[in-house]
Amino acid sequence: MTLTQGNTIDFDSARLKLSQGTSLAGTQPVQTSELSLDAVKDRLTQQLQTSLEIDRILEMFFQELRNFLGLDCLEYRLDGNGLHQRIGQPGLHRCSYRMTHAGSFLGEIVFSRKKRFSESQLLALETLLGNLLYPLRNALLYREAVFCAHSDSLTGVGNRLAMDRTLDREIKLSIRHCSSLSALVLDIDYFKQINDQYGHACGDEALKAVVNCVRGCLRDVDELFRAGGEEFVILLSDTPASDARLVAERIRSAIEGMQFQQHGDSIPITASLGVATRQLDEGVRELLERCDKLMYSAKRSGRNRIGIQ
Ligand code: GH3
Ligand code: MG
Ligand code: MG
Repeated sequence: MTLTQGNTIDFDSARLKLSQGTSLAGTQPVQTSELSLDAVKDRLTQQLQTSLEIDRILEMFFQELRNFLGLDCLEYRLDGNGLHQRIGQPGLHRCSYRMTHAGSFLGEIVFSRKKRFSESQLLALETLLGNLLYPLRNALLYREAVFCAHSDSLTGVGNRLAMDRTLDREIKLSIRHCSSLSALVLDIDYFKQINDQYGHACGDEALKAVVNCVRGCLRDVDELFRAGGEEFVILLSDTPASDARLVAERIRSAIEGMQFQQHGDSIPITASLGVATRQLDEGVRELLERCDKLMYSAKRSGRNRIGIQ
């Protein structure tokens, strides 16, 4: 059985509480620590401004509250953003807060411990949550900014910046673990004709449809990037050449078989791909150049095909 005390905390009122000072007059003093509430607030103010990473901020917040209030666990969740973090082992007694600020939902935070929370502890908890306000909001904004800086706004896949960073990391991992790394370069055939014939908006929809189709052919660990225009790069970690060719063929055939419809018209789409597997001492640029050359040789051989090394 879990005993939950639920609550919604609006940070605007929490801030009000902070600015009025929190003497906790009329309540029992918090007994679980030698520290005073004001001292913990000061420490949190100093510490939480040292990071923009949500994980780190929650970790620092938890450590301070654990020492002060004897917490066993902090759980934070922001559905829709894929954020879920748990620190410590959940206890029987829980209290949860849905945090909002200026109309924005900042997530749900659940504290738990083995012993029941007293009224004064709950009040202290709520006061200290006010210290989490701006650090958490800033960290969420920072996370969104980083996500946008690495995403292609039309298709939602990683952009060139994300691709360069990931490639760099994957090559290092492949060298360290002596594992094979394969890459695919995919270019849509005669894409300009789709734009010319059906309009740019239809071309945009075609790009999104191709992305969805390619995603459906990949494992969770594979990564897809828009390198620019109608050209995409797919990274297959820990994948030897023979498997990479199978993936490339699966993608080629799935795009060819895709039913792309616009305003009642069925528009055929095909793509040409170049597939290469990293050779000893080969860096990012050399690997992609080989993929590119193989993709162009597939184009020259008639399109809707795969160029292999
Ligand atoms: P090929 O088979 O040789 O690859 O021919 P292609 O027509 O696909 O290649 P080309 O390089 O001649 O044309 C690519 C076109 O892609 C031209 C450009 O306007 C269009 N394009 C690039 N980015 C976008 C985009 O974001 N949306 C749309 N709708 N079109 C785009
Ligand atoms: Mg093209
Ligand atoms: Mg192109």
